[in-house]
Amino acid sequence: MPASIIDGKLVAQEIRSALSERISALKHKNIVPGLAVILVGEDPASVSYVTAKEQACADIGMKSFEYRLPDTTRTEELVALIHKLNADKAVHGILVQLPLPGHIDEFSVIEAIAPEKDVDGFTSINLGKMLLGQDAFIPCTPHGIIKLIEHTGIPTKGTHAVVVGRSNIVGKPLANLLIRKEINATVTICHTGTVNLADFTKHADILIACAGKAGLITADMVKPGACVIDVGVNRVPAPQSKKGWKLVGDVLFDEVLDVAGFITPVPGGVGPMTITMLLYNTVAAAEKMSV
Ligand code: NAP
Repeated sequence: MPASIIDGKLVAQEIRSALSERISALKHKNIVPGLAVILVGEDPASVSYVTAKEQACADIGMKSFEYRLPDTTRTEELVALIHKLNADKAVHGILVQLPLPGHIDEFSVIEAIAPEKDVDGFTSINLGKMLLGQDAFIPCTPHGIIKLIEHTGIPTKGTHAVVVGRSNIVGKPLANLLIRKEINATVTICHTGTVNLADFTKHADILIACAGKAGLITADMVKPGACVIDVGVNRVPAPQSKKGWKLVGDVLFDEVLDVAGFITPVPGGVGPMTITMLLYNTVAAAEKMSV
């Protein structure tokens, strides 16, 4: 029997409906949650992510403030803009679209964001608090993945979760969330130093691929019945499409579908959840600032 497809758009819609009510409650207090979105340069993927985030804000009745800067922007200029936004009462969340051009000091830029407006959850303060299990903004993609796993209804306690990827924004925070008591999985983290990746993935009850490598996970690497979450977003040539390319994940969807118990598609799986958890964090930031 083919795997059940986890519909990220549907789960995202459920969360957005609940958020709409919280946004209405804020509007009764004359507060409209506002997200400042900073994009440096014109990387096509980043432009499309930023556009989607701004559209999502508009759709749900939030404000977005757009800052599109040339790729010649210097670190100090970006930090100065962030300081200005930190002090702006109409701005509840600040998002800097990554990656930044190579000459910019990404760490200094992210650290300049006030922790109470760090709705991506990337500052060392928020990441540290998350690690300690304190109240913090949780990075949007890992948070969205946890919501998707919860949505399947599978019991997670005592499962073996394998995370393929150890980036600061996906793999590391995700592994930390999976070991929280409410999930209680035993976690293995794989990376490019892992010898024979399949030896680990084959034993995963929950397999999360966040490596950014198209076709990395094949059917023979998946345990029958596993819950497979595909985070990867990779552009591959597709001569038959108008654009000449298409988006695929890290998992060979068509063949893994026949082995897994649950699987997320790309697009339409993790992506809509990432944007939704950004809205979620921004609403939470506005609520905290309103009391
Ligand atoms: P990243 O910073 O490039 O990290 C990739 C990680 O995967 C690294 O830890 C790397 O290991 C590991 N890796 C790469 N190739 C591997 C291989 N062959 N075997 C095992 N591990 C391997 O990427 P990221 O920012 O975490 O993003 C990962 C993917 O998720 C990308 O495709 C990105 O576009 C996508 N993404 C999607 C969303 C969404 O909302 N859908 C959000 C964020 C990211 P090393 O540490 O050893 O180099």
